[in-house]
Amino acid sequence: MTQKTKSSLRTSNLVNSIQPSGIRKFFDLASSMENIISLGVGEPDFITPWGVREACISSLERGYTSYTANAGMIELRIEIANYMKKQFQLEYDPKEQIIVTVGASEALDIALRSIVDPGDEVIVVEPTFVSYAPLVTLAGGNPVSVGTTAETNFRLTPRQLKEAITDRTKAIMLSFPNNPTGSTMSLNELKEIAKIVEEHDLIVLSDEIYAEMTYDGKHASIANIDEMKDRTVIISGFSKAFAMTGWRLGFVTGPSDIISAMLKIHQYSMMCASTMAQHAALEALQTGMEDVKKMVQSYKQRRNYFVKSFEEIGLPCHVPGGAFYAFPSIKNTGFTSEEFAEKLLLAERVAVVPGHVFGAGGEGHIRCSYATSLENLKEAVARIDRFLVSFR
Ligand code: PMP
Repeated sequence: MTQKTKSSLRTSNLVNSIQPSGIRKFFDLASSMENIISLGVGEPDFITPWGVREACISSLERGYTSYTANAGMIELRIEIANYMKKQFQLEYDPKEQIIVTVGASEALDIALRSIVDPGDEVIVVEPTFVSYAPLVTLAGGNPVSVGTTAETNFRLTPRQLKEAITDRTKAIMLSFPNNPTGSTMSLNELKEIAKIVEEHDLIVLSDEIYAEMTYDGKHASIANIDEMKDRTVIISGFSKAFAMTGWRLGFVTGPSDIISAMLKIHQYSMMCASTMAQHAALEALQTGMEDVKKMVQSYKQRRNYFVKSFEEIGLPCHVPGGAFYAFPSIKNTGFTSEEFAEKLLLAERVAVVPGHVFGAGGEGHIRCSYATSLENLKEAVARIDRFLVSFR
């Protein structure tokens, strides 16, 4: 009999089969060093707008400390429905088609758990947010990765999608604007994808958490295309647009059957999202859009500077249409993305994330967040330039 390790005896095969997030390693290393410029974090550098914080304080003063409805406060769900209609021309019934979740993270988890049966395949378009493939596995499914490349500006092509579909394919996970590439897809490009989705009767999990951060035109949602709304679950939240990562508040909109299945899981595992955070989110939607516009303006200015600078120091970088990440190529340095990130951190104390942690198509790139001050970005560029010169 083979010897089992202690951990494999005590923990499930499913959990043992997934790896911890590759981003953590660099955070841990960077946090033990001084004079670091971190381009590693995936969160806004802004503090939540004051009016939003005040609404939370006021809710506590008024004693709103009990549970809310499982799906979230109805006032908040109505406001989310208004927001989706106004911003994206998508109509949802606040009673049946919206759940307030503990971040987009929970929404992704329960969306997968409510649609996947053992052995189902879920197509994960990569490079992408690190949680998708592990969450598919934890839901009992098999993630099928499709790697996009810089040649297509990290957009999914119809051909790639067709090649990945089998008779076990249940769903596809899309995320545009994308983390880590910043790539966006236009409505016309999404129409090509929608046609194939329809033909193969797939469900789309569309993570649109960066929808507000779209810099060259309006955000396009696949749910806007013909019959797609009935097969698309939109995952979103307050973390990025409203600078509310620590509040842990997200939401999901979609067809009633999938939303009610998700609500079953949510009510047992979460009961409801934090009441005080929900009061803050209500205020965010009612009065926070001006703040969002200002933050987005600032990200756009930083993007323009940052992307141009990478080209100037000799790292090719496609122009990211959204989110707050640049994803330059480091292929011409001869290093792997892991080597590049480690050497850069040790030599110049700039923390970036190696592209391979985001899945297929990520190797040969580094993710650099520009959710930090222009001053920091300028210093980071100077340090990366010095690092490149030192070995070229
Ligand atoms: N989706 C994407 C694409 C993300 O980048 C992130 C956060 N980095 C999340 C979801 C998780 O967001 P939340 O804080 O709402 O859980």
